[in-house]
Amino acid sequence: MIVSYTSKNPQETISLGEKIGSRLNQGVVFAVYGDLGAGKTLLAAAIARGMGIKEPITSPTFIYYQSYPGKIPFYHLDGYRLELLTYEDKVELGVEECFQNGAVTFVEWPQYVAEFLPQDRINIGINRVAEEDCRELTFDFNREKHQWLWEVLV
Ligand code: ADP
Ligand code: MG
Repeated sequence: MIVSYTSKNPQETISLGEKIGSRLNQGVVFAVYGDLGAGKTLLAAAIARGMGIKEPITSPTFIYYQSYPGKIPFYHLDGYRLELLTYEDKVELGVEECFQNGAVTFVEWPQYVAEFLPQDRINIGINRVAEEDCRELTFDFNREKHQWLWEVLV
């Protein structure tokens, strides 16, 4: 199932992310594609806030990933600097652990950690459109498994 959502400004992306966060179950993985400055980290922070995580979410580009404890633990992983590493190197860094124990995992640049992504995940593409603050968000997910997301988006 593919659902598109047009965000007219950062606040709309934040509102949507908070709604998504408030409905999340354990073990959900978001693979989030989009160029630098698309709004991936902004969306991650909003989802975490919606999950009840109080700690501010910052971009994990230089530390690969960051975990945030909560009712459901939240992992924020950035594949950007992992492109050239081997599978073993990524395991060594702890990438595999980001997808275990029922955590919710939000992955930026998922193409660089493709070996670790579960089959059942929510793919999100964020793309700029003509207007400065406008973004097109495309959600690709299994509607039977993630009825809650369908309800948030429509
Ligand atoms: P990324 O993690 O994809 O590199 P960031 O989330 O760090 O991007 O930054 C996105 C930037 O784009 C922020 O400065 C944000 O305010 C801005 N922006 C403008 N319009 C939007 C929008 N509709 N949705 C999300 N971010 C937006
Ligand atoms: Mg980012």
